Amino acid sequence: MELPILGQEPQTSELILGIDLGTTHSLVAVYQHGEPRVLHDGEGDTLIPSVVSFPQGGAPVVGKAAVERMLLDPLHTIYSAKRLIGRSVEDLEREISTLPYKVVHSEKRDMAIIDLGERLITPQEVSAHILQACRDRAAAELKLDAKSLTKAVITVPAYFDDAQRQATRRSASLAGLEVMRIVSEPTAAALAYGLNKQDNCKVVVFDLGGGTFDVSVLELHDDVFRVIATAGDTHLGGDDFDRAIMVHCAAEIREQSGVEVLADPRARAALRMISEDVKKQLSSNEDAEFVYHDADAGIAYRRTIDWRTFQNWIIPYVQRTLDHCVSALHDAKQTPDSIDEIILVGGSTRVPFVKAAVAQLFNRPANDSINPDEVVARGAAIQAGVLGGEVKNALLLDVTPLSLGIGTAEGTVSKIINRNSAIPVQAKEGFTTYVDGQTAVKFTIVQGERELVKDNRTLGEFELRGIPPMAAGLPQIGVRFQLDANGMLSVFAKEEKSGVEASISIEPKHGLTDNEVENMLADAWQNAERDLETRRIIDLHAQRKNVLRAVHKHQEFAKENLSPESWEELREATAAAENIEGSTEAKQIKNCVDELEEASIALAESLMNDVANNAVKNQKVSDLSS
Ligand code: ADP
Ligand code: MG
Repeated sequence: MELPILGQEPQTSELILGIDLGTTHSLVAVYQHGEPRVLHDGEGDTLIPSVVSFPQGGAPVVGKAAVERMLLDPLHTIYSAKRLIGRSVEDLEREISTLPYKVVHSEKRDMAIIDLGERLITPQEVSAHILQACRDRAAAELKLDAKSLTKAVITVPAYFDDAQRQATRRSASLAGLEVMRIVSEPTAAALAYGLNKQDNCKVVVFDLGGGTFDVSVLELHDDVFRVIATAGDTHLGGDDFDRAIMVHCAAEIREQSGVEVLADPRARAALRMISEDVKKQLSSNEDAEFVYHDADAGIAYRRTIDWRTFQNWIIPYVQRTLDHCVSALHDAKQTPDSIDEIILVGGSTRVPFVKAAVAQLFNRPANDSINPDEVVARGAAIQAGVLGGEVKNALLLDVTPLSLGIGTAEGTVSKIINRNSAIPVQAKEGFTTYVDGQTAVKFTIVQGERELVKDNRTLGEFELRGIPPMAAGLPQIGVRFQLDANGMLSVFAKEEKSGVEASISIEPKHGLTDNEVENMLADAWQNAERDLETRRIIDLHAQRKNVLRAVHKHQEFAKENLSPESWEELREATAAAENIEGSTEAKQIKNCVDELEEASIALAESLMNDVANNAVKNQKVSDLSS
């Protein structure tokens, strides 16, 4: 007799992982039994170092084991892959000079790629190994088959652009994970603190990690968290604190023993580890011992560092974080007092001096009740819970930071999805041809706030072919933009009469630098007036050409059928409109166009009568009015 199968867990197959894919550390969490739970390894550690080592001839090593190989095999041990993802070598000049491993340009992908010597590896592949480690950890901790964990919510910095998000997505698919949602890190942090329950709440997220600092101002409105300003520095963080300690102690070692310890890479790495340890101790103790012995080099160094000394060493770095806060508040048109909540994220916010400095800026202590290492992963798990149906009544949407649109033949932009639209979002717009018999239309997809294509970022191009030859203006081309919940864009074009279709999913060439999104917005503001004027001139010229085209087409008819006065008037207006080709005087162009339109009324009427008489070519009337 067969036994019935009991105890099957129905929801396990739907379990969605929440992953904080960090520059220095990554974490994985799940939403279970009504709360987020960060998963740890056998030793109770929740942090997975974001390091992957590729031993020659061996399998890749991830996390703690890879950190141990950093000294041994620096050329094959990759850390900070997140700094490279979705970026080109051009974007990364400064970055590359500081990394011990080799980063080169990939012609094929137009992206930065890592050269391991015997082979090339993409930053996406490196991140995929880290994601795989997160997945394995979850499987081990939850006692599930890793194959059953196929879905994830992944967090990225608020300033990550389409290319960086897309590349992060690709990493996930390499790791066998379907990305249910990409969430920005500050949004995840705000979620972890439950701030999505207070409408109109303004939140500052202060995130000081190992090597990066981000501050974001968020606003919650109608269940949508909007990142209204971001600022930061991709080269500011706890590593600077470690270096400050290391440099001071190395100088003392030189004075005492005459040895330049920092010149030796191994000694340098050892000193850095000791420095980090001392720094961490100073987060909970008044002082800490710095001890370094190297009998071969004749070094026996020991000193006590108290918190006050450490604080003095790190003043300039902490000051810089505050400067960025001030500028983010300024951009968001907020003051420290208008902010409802300040939350601390990132391991380096454990430094008491950092907390005190933030408290002083905002005139009150910041919220640090959730472990700052874990807060982003917890938020990711909550979002996963929402998507998996575990968390009720918590609709949470993200917004698109820049507008998306189509470049027209004249070089202007027709915006289709406006910036700050809640995503997912779809929008449609109608286009037509501008030359008779045109059978193909090229679409340029642009991102940005400027009026002209050339001032925005071009994301991609595609062509709609096979349109049956028709008079200009007759084809009806519907262009649909679909931005999914992860910020990925698909564009569909369809000519309605013939049914021909074409589409594209955007695979941007390379990313924007960190401040570029902000700069693009600032640029748009600064140039708004001039842009609008230029655009108006271009639009007027387009209108002028349309009317001229229609008039020329019916020139013979006009000559034969119009009264001599009307014909003369039309001829004069036509000549005037032809003469202002290239003019940049909006008023002048407008006058000419108005006069030409006025002068062609007689022609339109006459054509109409002709159509009525012949009862055929109503097409010409629509040409004229188009
Ligand atoms: P990331 O988001 O960039 O991956 P984390 O948020 O994990 O970075 O922060 C890592 C940094 O936090 C490191 O510089 C680490 O030394 C620092 N850190 C961790 N714990 C402490 C502590 N107790 N005191 C001071 N700094 C700490
Ligand atoms: Mg982080």
